[in-house]
Amino acid sequence: AISGNLFDDDPAFQVTGETISVLPPLPLAGPYDYLVPEGLNVQPGDFVEIPLGRQTQRGVVWGKARGDVDPAKLREIYGVLQAPPMADVTRKFVDWVSAYTMAPQGAVLRMAMSVADALEPPKPIFRFTLADPADGDGESSLRMTPPRKRVMAFLRDHPPMEQADIMRETGAGASVIKGLVEAGVVRRLMVTPPSPFEAPDLEIARPHLSEAQERAADMLCAKVAEDGFSVTLLDGVTGSGKTEVYFEAIRTALESGKQVVVLLPEIALSAQWLQRFRDRFGVEPALWHSEVGQARRRDTWRAVADGSAKLVVGARSALFLPYANLGLIVVDEEHEHAFKQEDGVIYHARDMAVARAHLGGIPAILASATPSLETLANVEAGRYERVELSERHGMAVLPSVEIVDIRQDKPERQRWITPTLKKRLAETFAAGEQAMLFLNRRGYAPLTLCRACGHRFQCPNCTAWLVEHRAWGKLQCHHCGYQAKAPDSCPACGAEEKLAACGPGVERLYEEAVETFPQIRIEVATSDNIAGPKAAAELVNRVHNHEVDLLIGTQILAKGYHFPMLTLVGVVDADLGLAGGDLRAAERSYQLMTQVAGRAGRGDRPGMVLLQTADPSNRVIKAIAAGDRDAFNEVELSQRMTHGMPPHGRLAALIISGKKENEVDEAAWRIGRAAPRGDGIVVLGPAPAPLSLLRGRYRRRFLIRTDKQVRLQAMIHDWLSKVKTPGSVRVQIDIDPYSF
Ligand code: ADP
Ligand code: ZN
Repeated sequence: AISGNLFDDDPAFQVTGETISVLPPLPLAGPYDYLVPEGLNVQPGDFVEIPLGRQTQRGVVWGKARGDVDPAKLREIYGVLQAPPMADVTRKFVDWVSAYTMAPQGAVLRMAMSVADALEPPKPIFRFTLADPADGDGESSLRMTPPRKRVMAFLRDHPPMEQADIMRETGAGASVIKGLVEAGVVRRLMVTPPSPFEAPDLEIARPHLSEAQERAADMLCAKVAEDGFSVTLLDGVTGSGKTEVYFEAIRTALESGKQVVVLLPEIALSAQWLQRFRDRFGVEPALWHSEVGQARRRDTWRAVADGSAKLVVGARSALFLPYANLGLIVVDEEHEHAFKQEDGVIYHARDMAVARAHLGGIPAILASATPSLETLANVEAGRYERVELSERHGMAVLPSVEIVDIRQDKPERQRWITPTLKKRLAETFAAGEQAMLFLNRRGYAPLTLCRACGHRFQCPNCTAWLVEHRAWGKLQCHHCGYQAKAPDSCPACGAEEKLAACGPGVERLYEEAVETFPQIRIEVATSDNIAGPKAAAELVNRVHNHEVDLLIGTQILAKGYHFPMLTLVGVVDADLGLAGGDLRAAERSYQLMTQVAGRAGRGDRPGMVLLQTADPSNRVIKAIAAGDRDAFNEVELSQRMTHGMPPHGRLAALIISGKKENEVDEAAWRIGRAAPRGDGIVVLGPAPAPLSLLRGRYRRRFLIRTDKQVRLQAMIHDWLSKVKTPGSVRVQIDIDPYSF
């Protein structure tokens, strides 16, 4: 796989007999200096093999030598790999993300090189053809057996063919072909395998856009044609046709031969979206998410790097692929928490997408019906532009929203469906329409309690209750996955048959729905049973074919799905997300409920949403009922302002964690003592982190709040370099933490 002289014909970049720096994709690494041996030419971006410690490692030529190592101790790089070199902009992006998130460069590079064997050149394909096209009539000195004759005749009439095809078509064995090659009458050609990704079809007619959609599409297409950095918020109510509109921008980018990446929050569940995508562009996009198998990942990585994969659709990690020629980034549902990666390199893919667009000098489109406050603030400040779609497409109108006060309109004991919701459900089914009940709680009950002694079942590794999953007969922790068999007696007092399920989960709601509507076809959808692309696609089909009347599910049902016959959405516990306590709870809850509500009435039948609440005066509930997003956001923004929280100031979190509580407290105390002071800097903590015990690790948190002009990363760097913490304690830096 090593070649000495890949870049012979580009003398401008030749580096030989000099020192360069190479970055290996290792979690703690920065670039290290190496010597380029005599006779080897490398340029920045080349993939190379280097000695590192006692191992051979692969890395990327990062640039000039750093000069921090004694020249006598420098080691030579081994050679250059036959892979498309990593583009300048990708390397700059790795550096930028590393500087912003404070993660080592090697950790970020690892995301861009995530496929170990992608650097091996693809296996060549061999094809066979006649050495002399005039041959094939058996006119040669070679003794022509019947199988040989058949092969020769076949090759005369066909383009170069692979061995397996020749054997199948002529019935000749491999030795026959080999004999002909050895005799020199048939030639073996080595061809590079074609890209596994077909070029998109740009001739497919676009749907007829409404006037508003047309205007939005024109604006986005102009941004793409301008070919410079820009960020545009595509701000449209649920069902307004945002997807159709940004598809036009994608088409414009493809027309100029550029690559496009679309980031989706839950790609594995986006069956319907992918079908629309295929219909519009006539090809399968290159998918990039955790469910994609190793061989496919390798091919995809290479096709992205050599530019033959034009359309990439993926989860947040797709942003780090080494694009040859990226021309547009789309982030759909930009407000989604799923874009935040919370371990390893801690980053928000939407923000990194904007940075990537900036470095590449290309447009980014952020789409949402409920944009994040951060993005809205950027629009206000004039950094991002906005195009709006304020109406649903076609005959569809936004659903009406009704509040049900569960204190007055009480469900029966140990039941959660109010009489009003029950009545509406019955009406919906009678009209031959579909309904959805939304409850963001997996399992049977969120808490199990002993009625004799009050014992509650807690996870041994986390500050969290164990959730009963009756279908599996288990109690499970939703944070670390810990499982225990559901016991018959209380482990604390030994009382039998005293264990009580407290509160509803979707399984329990299902029981109630089955009892209430025995004739109705009901299905539960959570991440427990709808995990991958296949299960999601099957669910979509069942709902579409009206094999399901009532869907009960968690937030996996909130996003993206379009079911024209679904007219009623019941939010079983609208207060659920509001109790969370952190300053983002209201925003998050507003977004989630708006998205859920957005599933109702997307076809030509009007939809209705019922919000069951014990607190009808809560402003989130009121804002959703009134459909008044602007008023809601205004209050949210002013509250953030009062607390000095983003998008007004800058925020970072430090999470100090370890297996021994006293060590963690000690380290947190020492870090706290060295905390920076100064104008426009507030350090809060140490305090128990939101999950103060997670996967067996005790966690303390600092929040660092600063004015915009403070150099946050440099400040944190200085601060932490002053404090020594034991190796058993981990300090994680989270720039722009999601919860605060
Ligand atoms: P959003 O992403 O804004 O919720 P979608 O793009 O999913 O909206 O559009 C909602 C539905 O309306 C989809 O089924 C889509 O195919 C359809 N639709 C939107 N615009 C058009 C159009 N111009 N012509 C035909 N169908 C459209
Ligand atoms: Zn746990």
